[in-house]
Amino acid sequence: MNRLQLLQCVAKLGAAFIRRGMEQHAANLRIYYVAIQRRLAQGNKVDLHWSEPFVVEWMKTLRIPPYQSAYECRPRSSACAKCGRRPGTEPSASTECVFPGGARMRCQTCGSVWLEDEWPVATTSSSENGPTGAS
Ligand SMILES: [Zn+2]
Repeated sequence: MNRLQLLQCVAKLGAAFIRRGMEQHAANLRIYYVAIQRRLAQGNKVDLHWSEPFVVEWMKTLRIPPYQSAYECRPRSSACAKCGRRPGTEPSASTECVFPGGARMRCQTCGSVWLEDEWPVATTSSSENGPTGAS
């Protein structure tokens, strides 16, 4: 994505972090935002563990448009939809990432990734490209 699109994604992700009370993530992301905005980041990357793929991965994880459907969201302790493995059986699904409200799970057998998140999906604001200050 280009710089403007990345900035828009970072802004949406920052708002989602704040909604979930993830203040440290939001603070680091703010520094990343400034670095991108002022073109301080080489290859859109800053040594904050933040990078474009990381932003996209978090947007998928917190179901932020346009990535809200990247991962399936399922009930807690779900079996893997692809191979049927359940937590507690061997080999099982592992928790890849935990965040307020839910977790990102990965099946250790087939590598499928899904979410177990109790939060409602973020509502889509109408424009995906416009530099609006909406919500
Ligand atoms: Zn599986």
